[in-house]
Amino acid sequence: MNRNTKYVYRFGSLAVDGKGSMRAELGGKGAGLAEMALLSVPVPPGFTISTSVCRFYLEHDNMPLGLKEQLDASLLWLEGTHGRRFDNRQNPLLVSVRSGAAISMPGMMDTILNVGLNERNLDGLAKQNGSMRFALDSYRRLLQMFGSVVLEVPKKRFDSVLEAVKQREGVATDAEISQPGLRNIVDGFHQLILTHTGEPFPEDPQMQLSMAIEAVLQSWKNERAQHYRRLHKIDELSGTAVTVQAMVFGNRGMDSGTGVGFTRNPSTGFGEIFGEFLANAQGEDIVAGIRTPTAIAALAQTMPQVYEELRAITSRLEQHFRDAQDFEFTVENGKLFLLQTRSAKRSAIAAVKIAVDMAMEKLISKEEALRRIKASSIAEILSPQIDFSSDTPEAIAHGLPASPGSAVGRIALSADAAVEAAGKHGENPVILVTQETTADDIHGMAVAVGFLTAQGGATSHAAVVARGMGKCCITGAKGIVVDQTKGSLQIGDLNFQPGDWLSLDGSTGRVFAGKLPLRQSEAGNPELDTLLEWSLELSSTPIRANADTPQDAAVARRAGAQGIGLCRTEHMFFASDRLPHIRSMILASNIADRQKALDTLLPMQQADFETIFRQMAPLPVTIRLLDPPLHEFLPTADDLNHQLHLAQSRQDVHKINELEGLLLRGQSLAESNPMMGHRGCRLSITYPEILVMQVTAILQAALRVEEEGFLPAPEIMVPLVACAEEIRWLRRLIDETAKDVFRKHGRSIEYEVGTMIELPRAAVCAGTFADQVSFVSFGTNDLTQMTFGFSRDDARKYLDSYLEQGILSDDPFITIDQEGVGALMETAIRQLRLKNPKIKIGVCGEHGGDPVSIAFFKSLGVDYVSCSPARLPMAQLAMAQAEAILPEEHTLGRKIYSVV
Ligand code: PEP
Ligand code: MG
Repeated sequence: MNRNTKYVYRFGSLAVDGKGSMRAELGGKGAGLAEMALLSVPVPPGFTISTSVCRFYLEHDNMPLGLKEQLDASLLWLEGTHGRRFDNRQNPLLVSVRSGAAISMPGMMDTILNVGLNERNLDGLAKQNGSMRFALDSYRRLLQMFGSVVLEVPKKRFDSVLEAVKQREGVATDAEISQPGLRNIVDGFHQLILTHTGEPFPEDPQMQLSMAIEAVLQSWKNERAQHYRRLHKIDELSGTAVTVQAMVFGNRGMDSGTGVGFTRNPSTGFGEIFGEFLANAQGEDIVAGIRTPTAIAALAQTMPQVYEELRAITSRLEQHFRDAQDFEFTVENGKLFLLQTRSAKRSAIAAVKIAVDMAMEKLISKEEALRRIKASSIAEILSPQIDFSSDTPEAIAHGLPASPGSAVGRIALSADAAVEAAGKHGENPVILVTQETTADDIHGMAVAVGFLTAQGGATSHAAVVARGMGKCCITGAKGIVVDQTKGSLQIGDLNFQPGDWLSLDGSTGRVFAGKLPLRQSEAGNPELDTLLEWSLELSSTPIRANADTPQDAAVARRAGAQGIGLCRTEHMFFASDRLPHIRSMILASNIADRQKALDTLLPMQQADFETIFRQMAPLPVTIRLLDPPLHEFLPTADDLNHQLHLAQSRQDVHKINELEGLLLRGQSLAESNPMMGHRGCRLSITYPEILVMQVTAILQAALRVEEEGFLPAPEIMVPLVACAEEIRWLRRLIDETAKDVFRKHGRSIEYEVGTMIELPRAAVCAGTFADQVSFVSFGTNDLTQMTFGFSRDDARKYLDSYLEQGILSDDPFITIDQEGVGALMETAIRQLRLKNPKIKIGVCGEHGGDPVSIAFFKSLGVDYVSCSPARLPMAQLAMAQAEAILPEEHTLGRKIYSVV
């Protein structure tokens, strides 16, 4: 940077230095004003100090050399353009000073109006406008805004001075205060500033201007702004611009006023100008809610010419920027000025409607429409939401937003209690609140409308099940103590009993006391359907669903799944009519007893597979062999001891023996590190008969369904493989079992065998088993767990600190860690493709439903991703976006993508 660097960009009807595309330099506001000036939209003239000044100021605590000269020259230019002079007693020029980063940022200083006014030129302003009352009103506004924002006098102190005068005069609104009353207010504000800061208000306009500019730059560093940037991942160094603009006055009488509006409705997307107007008022009055504004549409009656002009200009702006705009305007004695235009913030529903409508109107392309929708916001549209349109109460706890949507229900502290409270037909909404959920709680989860857990993370049991069920879930909520024995729940300082109402916002992880109203999500949103149709047209990578039951599969098919990428068969075993048989199998002391239990299970599994194959044919269905450690099928030791106690008191010998057997077996199966224990393919190696039963059920089901005329496409997947020998061993067993089945039935059917890659060793050595399988699927939940050494179920305890401290930028269980886990995937894919060019590669961990991760997987060249049915639309959109954004050929180069 040197003396010749350009820091200041002018805009007005006579000269425009900047343009709309210069957001990075001029901020959103400055760029919008420059573009409007280029379009000959009436904007008051002014100039914008570029964001580079902010960066320099923050680094050096000083303004760059050469800025002062450019500011002085621009001020002279502004005086010439506007025909008024800064600090002139007869005809003073007043300016507004406003912040404006490239991305609009609440939390920063926004606006100071009427800069340049003082006791010396007050009369001049009064003469200029024919009203001393108006001049005093403008002056008190300057003192109030400058005092609170620049000099940091608490805003409330100004309000009390104002209120006292209003009370004395017996008036309800600011606009009714008399001229002497305003003089009293001005004097009161002067006194307040002097008392609070020890200095009088700076009367020198130049001093006001430079202090205001510095305050804007300083506000970039304030805590709220920093917090907002952290939350929204905005670059700390991008800085804010400062716009200095000639004042136009909305407080010059009833033919003046100020308004804000949108070119389309920001909550519904409906295509009609929408907003508010307040006559005889200046900018802040609308937001401050001092008087009730009227709808912009009412201007059609009160100021028809202004209304027509506003409609014409804003629709031109929308056409020009090819997006819905939010705009600010002022009317000064019947003349309209635009003060700001920018892309309007909008609800998820509105975003979809606006994008689709604009594509239909040929304003934007289909690709652009797709690109504009935040894929993660789709979940918001599809699930019922708490209606926050009335007052939003304080959240009583925060947790991880593990599964989106909202839930309002009565508290139940155990799965059994949930079933009881939900009623026979599930008619009562229940929220299951537990320390954590386990497979034993499935029945309670099935009836609950949402889950809240004190522990657990994004891939904990509660989270995975909730997303699978499309239910709202908050995990790892801090400050929650569940006491099941006492049957009580403490959240922060509040005590709750079972049956009390609780409301969950799964999209943000907020917990509220009481029963908040729910707003049904628009079922069958037609614009969303159109958008999803377009994303299917524009993407060639299939999205499959993780579906464990025939019910899930039906939902997945209806939602457009292009196959099932993961059917976790253990979830079929957990059904209450099967649990006793799986328990007998686990408790069996010899092969014959074990086989007997498996023989009972076989037809049940087969029946499920048949239904799933029928629902999905001819699409592929990946069925994963049993994965979890066997002790998870047994009740917990606490439960067993409790039941044992009861059985002993009843002297029920048979029950006592059974329970003691379960306890003993449970003890022998329990592991200190179950996630790294006797699970996955290790189970099939120690208990091959389980594999034989499952493979038989899968292939018999396929044969039966084929006989009925369907075209089933079974894919058998082996979990948690570490080395090639495991696969070789198991593949042999699968193929021998298949041969037996085909021999028995006198017919055969095509099936594929594949493996999951969930262990770092499997990823690093993928080439060694590439020729043994026809597909692989990355189990990114376990792969993340095993790569970081972070337990899926317990990591919450420390992950929050990692995120708060910025040690990790994202929860690796939600958004794939591209650098580490991603590198393992890349290594594996490279080897797999080299050794087996025909191999199919998919992803079925929870990351398969995360938009940012999906873009990354696509860049690695995967053939499909699989996610829970509720996330299918989101994943479909994210994949289309990834394909529209990425180049044609997906090489294995390291590319780090973020998604709009
Ligand atoms: C995984 O580990 O990513 C996976 C899909 O399997 P599960 O979540 O069932 O362990
Ligand atoms: Mg796994």
